Amino acid sequence: MRIDILTLFPEMCNAYLSESIIGRARKAGKVQIECVDIRDYTKDKHRRVDDTPYGGGMGMIMQVEPIYDCYNSLCRKTGAKPHLIYLTPQGKTLTQKRVRELAQMDNIALLCGHYEGIDERVIEELQPEEISVGDYVLTGGELPALILADSISRMLPGVLSEDECFEEESHYSSLLEYPQYTRPYEWRGRTVPDVLLTGHHANVDKWRRQQSLKRTFERRPDMLEKADLSEEDREYLSDLK
Ligand code: SAM
Repeated sequence: MRIDILTLFPEMCNAYLSESIIGRARKAGKVQIECVDIRDYTKDKHRRVDDTPYGGGMGMIMQVEPIYDCYNSLCRKTGAKPHLIYLTPQGKTLTQKRVRELAQMDNIALLCGHYEGIDERVIEELQPEEISVGDYVLTGGELPALILADSISRMLPGVLSEDECFEEESHYSSLLEYPQYTRPYEWRGRTVPDVLLTGHHANVDKWRRQQSLKRTFERRPDMLEKADLSEEDREYLSDLK
């Protein structure tokens, strides 16, 4: 899969994407992520890509042409028409379900706004999918784009060591994950639940499932409506009520 991040701050994105799991996955060719500098597509001799808003008001607006030319150049270069996503607080809130769907695509381009946002006409022309990472406003789309690139990449085959790594995690099947522990066994008088030391896999699995159900019930009961629950799960949950 190829992900292109269209941004005014490619180095900011590259710094994050060169480290840890995603950095290794890129080096191993499990995912191709490129950061494209929108500023390379301005015709302004001072490399300006923004201007003041029509109608007055605060801040600067990113201009249409550098963004449009940047995306079209990417289409020519890749020979594809990448699925374009504009990161914006006005978009649909990102969910794990959407991340899983996006991970099935071959080419995605993530458009990062900055300053007060981008000229509306480029949105009308390119009709990107609009995604928000939550109901708050950031200074730019770079962090949201990294959130998308990271969450999509870790769904791709071979990026994590075992598929299970994400299948048991929070949100994958509309449940929160169970609590996790590692050495030491005892810390400030707190010990690890005994069942985890028994080596009895069926009991460990049962305990984890119940902890997962309990956490979701206590913290995010809304998620349980979409979870795939067995008769045993339902009995356990009704005992909690
Ligand atoms: N004036 C815009 C508004 O009120 O909708 C906000 C612009 S914001 C300061 C600048 C850029 O940051 C946006 O164009 C977008 O790319 C990004 N951004 C900020 N918050 C975001 C969020 N919650 N989700 C996704 N992108 C966000």
